[in-house]
Parts: sequence; structure tokens; C-alpha cells
Amino acid sequence: MNEVSSIFLSGLRNAHAMENQALSIMKPQVSRIENYPEVARRLEQHIAETEVQLSRLDQLLEGMGGDNSTLKDMALSFTGAMAALGHTVAPDEIVKNSFANYAFEHFEIAAYKSLLALANHIGDTRAVELLTQNLREEQDMAAWLDQHIEPVTLQYAALREVGETAKR
Ligand code: MG
Ligand code: FE
Repeated sequence: MNEVSSIFLSGLRNAHAMENQALSIMKPQVSRIENYPEVARRLEQHIAETEVQLSRLDQLLEGMGGDNSTLKDMALSFTGAMAALGHTVAPDEIVKNSFANYAFEHFEIAAYKSLLALANHIGDTRAVELLTQNLREEQDMAAWLDQHIEPVTLQYAALREVGETAKR
């Protein structure tokens, strides 16, 4: 395997770990939401999309003879800054999670742009096709989050004003 292909393979493994991290961030969030059904629905949708993203990465890794085990993912230990992405104790967790999710989606966008540069360089058209699908879903989720930072913040403020105790 040439150098670029080995960089690409390690990028695919990192993306696989990143997507498992995404699931471990979104699943607890969605299970805690009580007052924001629209956010919960969008998170559910993106969880389902993420499962498919993982299967696309599995296909590419299998094609390259790569290992995509969950154990390997855990060993890859995702970046420290991203590991702190749960805000389950804050009263305004719904707002802080909207910041964290926005940041996470942009991390994913950057990762897929980087992988696509390598896939294009190698001339792997199948990888370009699958990674573009993943990239589009991250961009759609990022756009949705961008549009909902303000309404979610105002909804949180409104619930606080009426003394709603269950703010999440
Ligand atoms: Mg993703
Ligand atoms: Fe995502």
C-alpha cells in the first residue's frame, strides 16, 4: 500500500471512531429531551443517518482490508476537547448541547472533506461517492442546528419564564 493510501485508511478508521463517538453523544441527549420534540426528532433522524454512515465506512474499510472493530475505535480515543461534549448537569443543557452538536457536526464536515481530498487524489470513485453522502448529511445536520440555535434558546428562556421545572 502506498503512503497516501495508508493515510486514507487511517483517516477512515478515525472517521469510524468519530461516528461511534457521535452516537455516544446523541443517544443520551435524545433520551433526556422532554420539552423539545423537534430537536428530539432531528436527533433521532441523525442517529439513523449515522448508523448508515458507519455502514458506508465499514464497506470502505472492508474493501481496503481494514479493521473496523469497536475496540479499535475506543483505542483511537477521540480528541480530548470533543470528549467533554455532554452537558447533562447544566440546567440549560439543551442550549449547551446545541453548541456542542454544532461544533461536532463541523468537525465531521472537516473530516469528510479531508477524506474526500485523499479519495479524489487516489482516484477511488466508490469512496468519493460514499464519503460525499456522509458529508452531505453532516452539512444538512449542521445547517439545521445553525437554524435552531436561536429558537431553541428562546424556547428555553420562555420555559424558564413560566417557571417550567423540566427544562430539558
Ligand atoms: Mg456523522
Ligand atoms: Fe453528524
